[in-house]
Amino acid sequence: MDALVRKRRRAFVEERDCVACGCCMKICPKTAISIWHGIAAKVDPETCVGCGKCARECPASVIEIREVTV
Ligand code: SF4
Ligand code: SF4
Repeated sequence: MDALVRKRRRAFVEERDCVACGCCMKICPKTAISIWHGIAAKVDPETCVGCGKCARECPASVIEIREVTV
C-alpha cells in the first residue's frame, strides 16, 4: 500500500528581492513571519498555514504560495 501523502500550502520568500518592509509580518494571522537581521522576511514553515495574506500584501511581490508534500 502506498504511504499516505499529505499536501500543504506554504509561503516562500524570494529573499534577494525582499525589501524588509515588514508588511507581511504585520498581516500574518499565525505570526509565522519574522524579519531576519533586518534584511529579509523568513517564514516559519511549521507555523505557516498557506493562507496567502502575506503574498497579497507584499509590495515587492516576492512571496509565492506553493503546495508542498509533507
Ligand atoms: S501564508 Fe498566511 S500563515 Fe503563511 S506566512 Fe503568509 S500570512 Fe502567514
Ligand atoms: S512584505 Fe514583501 S518586501 Fe516586505 S518584508 Fe515581507 S516579503 Fe519582504
